[in-house]
Amino acid sequence: MTVLEDAENYISGTAPKAICDDCLALKLRITPRQHANQKSRELAGRAQFDRRKGDCSVCGHTKLVIRRKQAKNG
Ligand SMILES: [Zn+2]
Repeated sequence: MTVLEDAENYISGTAPKAICDDCLALKLRITPRQHANQKSRELAGRAQFDRRKGDCSVCGHTKLVIRRKQAKNG
């Protein structure tokens, strides 16, 4: 799997929880962390992902986090 697929799967698996780039990098062992930032932004360009300032479910800090949007009527 590519790093992007890993990130997509991880974020989908934790939905509706949000995660910041730093924690995403740690969880997926992405180095350097800028790489996680890049992947996060790539996913944020998709309709089903939402990237904004919020509380990270892992570290608890308020920063840029990404989450997968919940399907409506689900
Ligand atoms: Zn975090």
